[in-house]
Amino acid sequence: MTVSASDWVRDHRDDAIRVLQEFIRVPSPSGQEKACGEKVGEAMRAAGFDTVKVDALGDAMGVLKGSRGGRSILMNGHIDHVPVGDMVDPYSARLMDGASFGTKGEVIYGRAACDMKAGVAAMVMAGAYLKDAGIKLRGDYKVAAVGQEEVGGAGTVSTIDKDQFLADVVLIGEATNMDLALGHRGSMKMSITVKGRSCHASAPERGINALYKATDLITRIRNELVPRLPSDPLFGKVSLTITMIEVKPGAFNVVPEECRFAIDCRNTPNYTAENLYHDLQALIADQAGRDPEFKASVLPTPLIRGERTFNGFYTDPATYPVVKEAETAIKGALGKAPKKKVWTFATDGKFYSWLGIPVIGFGPGEEQFAHTEKDHVRVEDYLKTIEVYAAVARRVCG
Ligand SMILES: [Zn+2]
Repeated sequence: MTVSASDWVRDHRDDAIRVLQEFIRVPSPSGQEKACGEKVGEAMRAAGFDTVKVDALGDAMGVLKGSRGGRSILMNGHIDHVPVGDMVDPYSARLMDGASFGTKGEVIYGRAACDMKAGVAAMVMAGAYLKDAGIKLRGDYKVAAVGQEEVGGAGTVSTIDKDQFLADVVLIGEATNMDLALGHRGSMKMSITVKGRSCHASAPERGINALYKATDLITRIRNELVPRLPSDPLFGKVSLTITMIEVKPGAFNVVPEECRFAIDCRNTPNYTAENLYHDLQALIADQAGRDPEFKASVLPTPLIRGERTFNGFYTDPATYPVVKEAETAIKGALGKAPKKKVWTFATDGKFYSWLGIPVIGFGPGEEQFAHTEKDHVRVEDYLKTIEVYAAVARRVCG
C-alpha cells in the first residue's frame, strides 16, 4: 500500500527541515545564486529526480519522469533573495518560536525563508515523497529553482529560452499564506527627468533649481494623480509610488541642473503603460502652463519598452478547469478549501502565462514578511506545503 503524504512527511520531518535550513544557509543574493543552485541540485539528486541540471546562472532544473500520457506540471520557485539589510544572523536558518514575530508555533528564521526557499524546498521534498512512495505519475513532475527573480526574471527566462523547460501547468511557490493565488497586477517602471540650470549655490537666484522643480511635480503626482488611479474588481487598486531620486551634477555647492526620479506603478488591465504615460505627460504640460521655467520629460516611453498593454496575468477558473482541480487537491491536503486571491507583488508566473500556460500559485509564508527583517516561515505550513504539492501533482499529472 502506498504511504500517504501526511504519514511520509511526519516520518521525514527532520529531513525536510534540514533541507530547507541547508538552502537558507547558502547566501544567494540576486546574481550570486550559483552555490545555492548547486545545493538545490544536490538535494534533487538525493530526492531521486531522474534528471538534474544546474546551468551557468545557478538555475537548478530537476525532472521526475512520468510514464507518459498525463499532463506535466512545472513547479517554479526562485532561490535568489533581496539584500539582508538589518537582519540579525540572516543565514542562521534558526528554528525558533514564532511569538516574537507574532506568528503561532515553531518557525524557521532567515533571509529567503518565506521568499522563497521554503517553497523551493517543499517542491524538492514533494518529489522525494513521490519517488520514495513509488508513485509513478503519468506526466512529468518538473522543478525549476531559478535565480534573478528579484531583479527582473532572467533565471526563469533562461530556463524557458535555453532549455525549453516548460510544462502543461505551472505552479509558482511564492508565499500565499496557504491560499490559492491566480495572478497579479502588472508592473511599470518610468522615470521623469526635470531640467533646470545650474549655478553657484551661493547665489541660487542665478539658476533654476531642478530639484525644486521636481518636488513641485512629485507633490502633484502624489496629491492629484495617485488618488484618482482606478481600481479593478479582480486585481484591486492601481498603486504608484516614487522610489528613487538623483540630481546632476550632485555637488554640495552647485544648484542642480537636472533631477531624475523613478516611478514604480503596479497596474490593472484598465490602466496600461500608455494611460500612465499620458497622465504624466498631461501633468507635466499643466505644470509648464503654471510655471514657465518648468521643463520635464518622461522616459522611457512605453513604446520604447513595448509596454503598451497589461503585463500582469490572471488564470481565470472559467477558462482553465485546472484551477478547480488544484483547488480540490489542496482542499484534500489541507482539510479546507483554500481562499482564492491575487498576489500583491509580481512573480515569474507572468512569463509562463504570456505563453498561454495556466499558472497557479501556492506557497508557505506570508507576503507581509517578504523582504523584511522578520523573514521566516511556519514549520507546519512548510511541511503541509509538501503534501499540497504532492497532491496537486498527482491530480494534474494523473
Ligand atoms: Zn519572491
